[in-house]
Amino acid sequence: MNAQHHELIIIGSGPAGFTAGIYAGRADLKPLIFEGLQPGGQLTITTDVENFPGFPDGVMGPDLMEAMRKQAQRFGCQSVYEMINDVDLSKRPFTLKSDSNTYTCDALIICTGASAKTGKLPNEAELMGRGLSACATCDGFFFRDKEVVVVGGGDSAMEEAHFLTKFASKVTVVHRRDAFRASKAMQHRVLNHPKIEVIWNNGVVELLGDKTTGLKGCILEDTTNGEKRELKADGLFYAIGHKPNTDLFKGALDMDEVGYLTVQPHSTKTNIEGVFAAGDVADSHYRQAISSAGSGCMAAMDAEHFLGVDSSANKYAENIAY
Ligand code: NAP
Repeated sequence: MNAQHHELIIIGSGPAGFTAGIYAGRADLKPLIFEGLQPGGQLTITTDVENFPGFPDGVMGPDLMEAMRKQAQRFGCQSVYEMINDVDLSKRPFTLKSDSNTYTCDALIICTGASAKTGKLPNEAELMGRGLSACATCDGFFFRDKEVVVVGGGDSAMEEAHFLTKFASKVTVVHRRDAFRASKAMQHRVLNHPKIEVIWNNGVVELLGDKTTGLKGCILEDTTNGEKRELKADGLFYAIGHKPNTDLFKGALDMDEVGYLTVQPHSTKTNIEGVFAAGDVADSHYRQAISSAGSGCMAAMDAEHFLGVDSSANKYAENIAY
């Protein structure tokens, strides 16, 4: 099978991938963007984004990502909807394989992001989509006048719990400690909401229900004394953080102990020359749309420098100011 060669390939289509695409496109690198399993990334499963600069009244996550996609395409980025399932980064050009095609590139920007974690309980697979979810904005609608549980104590848990109050009759937040790690503003919304109850110092140790009945509830265990109790619930939403999407690069690229790609300080360079990483896949700390977008810009500039492209010579330079 003949490989299609591109100067620059970007894997991932969240704020990092599209921002890298906008910058690389404007540098005439004609990047190919593999949009992945969740085109547009995590913001496509969120509602209001209130902290992305430039939107004083907030913006809907999917709208923001569609705007970024259009902006990247305006500068010559081409979106591809195949999944890359094999990479060879041992020599240049790098080789990427999907089920149907082989691609090669001189430089690669990895923006594969991170995915929601779950509790790893035995019957999760059969209950997923039958009351169990990791995305309130995707599934909340199905829980009108129902009782739901949100697990977690970070900003995501607060956001999900608050969002679910639009539909559910009652939202119970279950958290394993006695304090939330979420920002004070987000905590405030939850702690003062009449529909939300918080159960502190508890973890979910069992999910009740099966394929036929759907989720019926869960068993909670007190983290201070091991006491168990049953909690009735029609829905349960995990909001306990994320896992970086780096399985594809195991053994090829340096990662931290959790699996986040490691990059050189103040740059997006990985341990392989010509391979750059941006966004949540390389950021276990900030994980914000705006910081991802910023690192996507850095990755494109790093890639451009690596490829030796003179940015002032790009075809848009005459018409569009930097
Ligand atoms: P997070 O900040 O890592 O919080 C994860 C929460 O889940 C923590 O409270 C943690 O408990 C709990 N947890 C982790 N593993 C667990 C397990 N196995 N069982 C039970 N509980 C578990 O993740 P996040 O809330 O997804 O937020 C990630 C980043 O995105 C953060 O930087 C956050 O600020 C940002 N974010 C921002 C917004 C916004 O500004 N609009 C919205 C969402 C997320 P412990 O506290 O005990 O560790």
